[in-house]
Amino acid sequence: MSTIPPHPAESHPVAVRCRGLEKAYGTGDARTPALRGIDLDIHHGELLMLVGPSGSGKTTLLSVIAGMLDRDAGECLVLGHDLQQCRADERAHFRGQSIGFVFQSFNLLPSLTLAENVAVPLLIQGAVRKGAITKAHDVLNAVGLGDRLHVLPTKISGGQQQRVAIARALVHEPALIICDEPTSNLDHSTGHHVMALLKQQAQAPGRALIVVTHDNRIFEFADRIAHLDDGRIVDISGSTPTGAAQ
Ligand code: ADP
Repeated sequence: MSTIPPHPAESHPVAVRCRGLEKAYGTGDARTPALRGIDLDIHHGELLMLVGPSGSGKTTLLSVIAGMLDRDAGECLVLGHDLQQCRADERAHFRGQSIGFVFQSFNLLPSLTLAENVAVPLLIQGAVRKGAITKAHDVLNAVGLGDRLHVLPTKISGGQQQRVAIARALVHEPALIICDEPTSNLDHSTGHHVMALLKQQAQAPGRALIVVTHDNRIFEFADRIAHLDDGRIVDISGSTPTGAAQ
């Protein structure tokens, strides 16, 4: 059992708080700074987009926030927790409960049906299988795949796999949803549909969403857009849902 209690989101002023975050890969001559002092708050109810050229540090920042990569300096609190100070099993438990991921590579399990894939986060939390599958059906319906519940991931297109990955990130209603290029395989209309769904999730009480994207067709869904360049946030546009510009 984890020693991290599930805190009510309302008890944290912000969903994610980063201060002076630094991270470099390698050492000596091979040292590559990836984050050079990131200050960023992600507010409850907010959809924040991270944009920037390849190599600017977007993936590194997501990985540090998710507790999958240790920072070298600075502070990073997720729902009030400093994951770097937690044991590996505590981090894994926290991620399973509180974070939903949409990876670029989808990471679907090939031998499970779409409904079973989407049910996995609930089953990991100990949900009863029947209830988990029913919930998975509901979320697959919401992403427009209600007629494909029992097929295998290998039988559907890349765009459909991406929607399954999004359904899997939403099914357990995590407080923080982290998406890496969630619309990269989707046509304009499906991309808009999926972003509207993600935006709706971000607006639910106690939730927050971070989206890394190159897709300027979906910028309209962002509350704020943070621009990264060479490991630094060089500009933040927009305002938080409460209107408090950061
Ligand atoms: P982005 O997601 O914006 O493309 P990354 O966070 O992947 O940027 O990379 C930021 C910098 O860190 C780049 O200079 C990249 O080459 C370097 N980098 C990323 N991952 C590694 C790694 N595993 N080993 C060494 N350097 C890395």
